[in-house]
Amino acid sequence: MAVKTVNLEKIVADSDNLPLLSDTALKTIELSRFEKAALDSFREIIEERKETAQRLLKIVNSPFYGFTREIANIKQALISLGFKSLKKLTITLSVLFPNNKERFIIDLDRFAEDSFILGTACRLLANHYQPNLSESAFFMGVLMNIGQAVLALHYPEDYKAILSKVDYCDKRLCRMEREAFLWDHTRIGSMLLRRWDFSDKIVIPIFFHHTSDPPDTFSWRDEILIPIVYTAHLMLNVFRADSKKESLDALMEAAKTRLDMSEDSMRDIMERMGEETEKLAKIFDFKMSFKPNYTRILQEVNIQLGQLNLTYEQMNRELMKAKLEAEKLAHQLRLMNEELQKRAEMDGLTGIYNHRYFQEHLAIEFSRVLRHESQLSLVLLDVDYFKKVNDEYGHLTGDLALKEIARLLQTNIRISDILARYGGEEFAVILPETSAENAYIVAEKFRMIIENHSFWMEDKNLKITISAGVAAMEKGKDYETTSDLINAADINLYRAKQEGRNKVMK
Ligand code: GH3
Ligand code: MG
Ligand code: MG
Repeated sequence: MAVKTVNLEKIVADSDNLPLLSDTALKTIELSRFEKAALDSFREIIEERKETAQRLLKIVNSPFYGFTREIANIKQALISLGFKSLKKLTITLSVLFPNNKERFIIDLDRFAEDSFILGTACRLLANHYQPNLSESAFFMGVLMNIGQAVLALHYPEDYKAILSKVDYCDKRLCRMEREAFLWDHTRIGSMLLRRWDFSDKIVIPIFFHHTSDPPDTFSWRDEILIPIVYTAHLMLNVFRADSKKESLDALMEAAKTRLDMSEDSMRDIMERMGEETEKLAKIFDFKMSFKPNYTRILQEVNIQLGQLNLTYEQMNRELMKAKLEAEKLAHQLRLMNEELQKRAEMDGLTGIYNHRYFQEHLAIEFSRVLRHESQLSLVLLDVDYFKKVNDEYGHLTGDLALKEIARLLQTNIRISDILARYGGEEFAVILPETSAENAYIVAEKFRMIIENHSFWMEDKNLKITISAGVAAMEKGKDYETTSDLINAADINLYRAKQEGRNKVMK
């Protein structure tokens, strides 16, 4: 399939009207842009819709929130829960009770059901680690695949073709989405939710929910919701995927490595899934045609193992052994290939993208801008007097400083921005849909963050500054190739150095 370069920002912007959402949720999303005055309108909108209001009140008064006194109306609910929470609840509800099902090529009933199971799984896991996160965890689980609904809506034919090849829960799905649309549902979903004011606490885990090994330069690596959402998607796989044994092994492995959770605890949580979904389904008035039943899964796994035994009896022992060995090798090879692919894109020292990936990605963004007449900015950053850092503190300290700079930059960009190590002590940031003016503001922010940061190296407080050059594709700037754009940024970087360093030029 040819790669479609999808205009991500546009899709996300258009998705404010995602037909999946109820008009209550849509109105709520719109309202949140106005804050204060919105509260009254919000109350009115909800109160007008009796069914929604009743459902909300029932949930707010249920053990899901655990308020001690009765909340009698939407006004009190707003006071007790706050506008943001109520808004998130409304959006979550509309994924569970979707509108306009006929406009989607995916089976939205199953989508809602899976989302509900994911929400329940996230909530149970959160309860195990940090019960105060269980509300957010539930919302996160329900909303984690909303990017799939967006893709299904915007690219029905292509998405149908993909889903005819792999199931929703197949781990190849993301790769195929990226091959077809450049962006996968984790990225689209997280951008959409960020736009709808969900916090990074939820957005970042959703972004990484298919990533077995998120980059360790991110400061959010200790956030528990990241491994929780990842593990939850494997829990759903166990209930949904064809190969129960394989999915169960993958789940137990992730529980151990990502959550440091024993098999016993994981089993316990899996056993509670049936009862917990039922309990929550009652609270949410949600109809399930399917119950996650762990006992039955274990039976199926045993049958699967039994079948293996049978074949084993029928086949020559040696042949069987060789076959299993070959499968194991093939599996290892696949894992190694994936690892190699990842390494080919990453810089070994800093864990951010490398020069090669930068060039490839810039070319894609560049051609997209040429076709769609949108905007694109590039920032080149160079550490000032870095040779001195090496000379005074040694090369190893220099390396640590570069790592720290990469981490600071990475935590301060948007999900759609690409940070790469351009070479040595130079970094590049690709900013899609960003004007020169805004790119300048971003670069200036980077400059100040680095300037104000204390690099503690061997008990010494090191001060480091950077210089930056900005270039943008916009009217009147007819760059023909990516090299022209890079050159323009480089010239501005050179000017920043000439002007005395610790400066940004555009
Ligand atoms: P300025 O850019 O402000 O003009 O001065 P500078 O000293 O930073 O510039 P120059 O380009 O002369 O030197 C860059 C230095 O960065 C030289 C090189 O040893 C160091 N460097 C490049 N890559 C690495 C790396 O991976 N690790 C360490 N420790 N140092 C590196
Ligand atoms: Mg340099
Ligand atoms: Mg330098």
